[in-house]
Amino acid sequence: MSSPQVIFLGGLGRSGTTLLERLLGQLPGVAPLGEVVHLWARGVLAGEPCGCGAPFAECRFWHEVGELAFDGWAPHVAQTVLGLRRRVDRTRRIPFVDHRDLGRYVQAYRAVYEAAAEVAGADVVIDSSKHASLAFCLMAGGVDVRVVHVVRDPRAVAHSWRRTVERPEDGRPMTRWGALRTSMHWTAQNLALDLFAGAGGITRVRYEDLLADPRTTLTRLADELDLEPDFGFLRGSTAMLQPRHTVSGNPMRFAVGPVELSRDDAWHDGLPRRHQTLVAGLTWPLMSKYGYRGAAA
Ligand SMILES: [Zn+2]
Repeated sequence: MSSPQVIFLGGLGRSGTTLLERLLGQLPGVAPLGEVVHLWARGVLAGEPCGCGAPFAECRFWHEVGELAFDGWAPHVAQTVLGLRRRVDRTRRIPFVDHRDLGRYVQAYRAVYEAAAEVAGADVVIDSSKHASLAFCLMAGGVDVRVVHVVRDPRAVAHSWRRTVERPEDGRPMTRWGALRTSMHWTAQNLALDLFAGAGGITRVRYEDLLADPRTTLTRLADELDLEPDFGFLRGSTAMLQPRHTVSGNPMRFAVGPVELSRDDAWHDGLPRRHQTLVAGLTWPLMSKYGYRGAAA
């Protein structure tokens, strides 16, 4: 099996990584895999549904990937990777990724990427795992990875994390964070991904720009990532989405058919003013850097 190009979508959750993955995943030769970091616990061990709707164990795509990569998805395969992850893939280790288990950990991801590309007949796979620490591990482990850093106004992100949202996988509520916690995670995750910019090999995209003009933003990304710019699935501000075999991610991964691409600005009215001020105050250096207005002076 040859090694596919891996596009890694990084950013804090609720920043639009799943939406971007769905859109790039419609391009020819591209296989979107979802958040591969959660494949092991949520897919293999918990059997949560694939983006195609089938439970993980019944999805033909992932079944074939498992056979090819690991001679099947035995629980010990997932448990081994989770054990390695606890030792290797920790945010506090960034960027000092130099661990004796790194090679074995990265090899598990490489095996998934190669098998998925083979089964999908794709040259490019997308991993929307988001965490900067995993992107560092992959790079340090020699995977051919291009990082796309997705940023979104931290006030919109904070509003999203405050909301009660049900997980379609099991009906349980998704994790909720307050404004302070979101601000800290937003800064930490974006700073970590900014480290890539210094090393080169990163493409940054703002959620707001993607939604304001999807075609222009996606054309730029396709150009930078050497993807075929075939946007037949876009009709104005509507995207026609085909089902894809994404293993984990936000509920948007299940969307099929016409999806209206409109910016969610509910935070303007939905996030209490004092929280808006708190978030802007705590995140203003990066907020300004990314071009968001209204940061505290
Ligand atoms: Zn599937």
